[in-house]
Amino acid sequence: MNRSIVAIVRYEKPFISVRKAVELSSGLDRLPSKAKVFIKPNIVFWTKEAPFPKWGVITTSRVVEDMVVLLKERGIDDITIGEGTVLRHPKDRETSEHAFEILGYGVLKKRYGVRCISVHERPFEKVDLGQGVALDFNTDMLRSDFLVDIPVLKTHVQTVVSLGIKNLKGVLNIRSRQKCHSAHPEMDLNYMVARLPNVLPPCFVILDGIYTNELGPGFDGNIRRSNILVASSDILSADMVGARLLGYKSSEVPHLAHVARDCERPTDLSDVEVVGEKIETMESFHEYSFPYTEDESLPVFMERKGIQGLSYRKYDLTICTYCSSLTRVILMGIAKAWNGAPWDDVEVLTGKVMQATPGKKKTILIGKCICRANKNNPDIREAVPVKGCPPSMRQVVEAFHRSGIPVDPSIFENKDRTAGLYIKKYEGKPEFDESFFRII
Ligand code: SF4
Repeated sequence: MNRSIVAIVRYEKPFISVRKAVELSSGLDRLPSKAKVFIKPNIVFWTKEAPFPKWGVITTSRVVEDMVVLLKERGIDDITIGEGTVLRHPKDRETSEHAFEILGYGVLKKRYGVRCISVHERPFEKVDLGQGVALDFNTDMLRSDFLVDIPVLKTHVQTVVSLGIKNLKGVLNIRSRQKCHSAHPEMDLNYMVARLPNVLPPCFVILDGIYTNELGPGFDGNIRRSNILVASSDILSADMVGARLLGYKSSEVPHLAHVARDCERPTDLSDVEVVGEKIETMESFHEYSFPYTEDESLPVFMERKGIQGLSYRKYDLTICTYCSSLTRVILMGIAKAWNGAPWDDVEVLTGKVMQATPGKKKTILIGKCICRANKNNPDIREAVPVKGCPPSMRQVVEAFHRSGIPVDPSIFENKDRTAGLYIKKYEGKPEFDESFFRII
């Protein structure tokens, strides 16, 4: 049997550790000379408003620079770093530029001639991925000769893990990303994500686990300093090993199970050769699912606060990034608004398919999709729709006020600034080192 090689390396030193991961995995052996290389880091979120915790959320600039140097050593001159950070306003150019600058990519440009692009400003091309799926991919990635995929080693509340395959969603245009969160019972998010590797040029994946993220993918997860690098020229093998290191068998990660089935590969790593460190000595369980009550009607932390008269149903796979990024702020707003007096039997629905529970007095519908899914629903006594895509903060606040829940508008107006509050958690912990996100 032809076994794919996956290297697990303990991160110890700048450059030396990444070089070791590349060499042990033979990951750049298929790199054509004079190749046009596309590097895809993970910059899932960014804000100019306040410094926020990047550990376990964003690919470290340390690993990105080390990879650029290794490519340059192999005579590669045409290197593009491309990312499609989630932006609230599609025409916002400044946030991505700010991210690239703060992360030190400007230095990479000057020192090594690297080009940095926000995929939102570049052309897309529709690609038929088979089995009824066509999505719009960034053309720079499609036209490259070689892809270097550098996600963070993290969990994801919807897809269990977010590694090399899931990281590719960031080169799709917004419409296609929304399409991935389909309401189709079989062609769901996991099915769609599993199709993404079908168009890749030859690639090398390095999972950046210097910091790992439990309850990821965002900065509100539990971040750990884990010092792990995982490298392979086979994206599925890298992800299957990455999942194991986070505590999940590939059969427990639906999109990995889909890809394995499509490639007729086993999910038990029997066709993978792990070199370097052993999985058993490096693995540590990372919870992926935000804890909810048994009936999934309220996050556990709200139940513990004693909140009554509100049902905030657990997110499903159909809610896309733009609506789900609102959830954290809404939950924060609700928790702060609680003063001990039960609210008036209010239910909140999100995503594309949830149906109202009969008997509730008010139903807040967040986003145009869920408004549509519950149009004329006879079980709704009073609908409080928030119709936009993504819904506006002002309308969300008005909907809660109308339903008797006095959320503080300033939390919503300063949504990005609240991200900065999370940084306090890491004060006085030297292992959370901001210099991993600088290039000097
Ligand atoms: S309304 Fe929300 S769930 Fe629907 S497409 Fe827009 S962002 Fe996605």
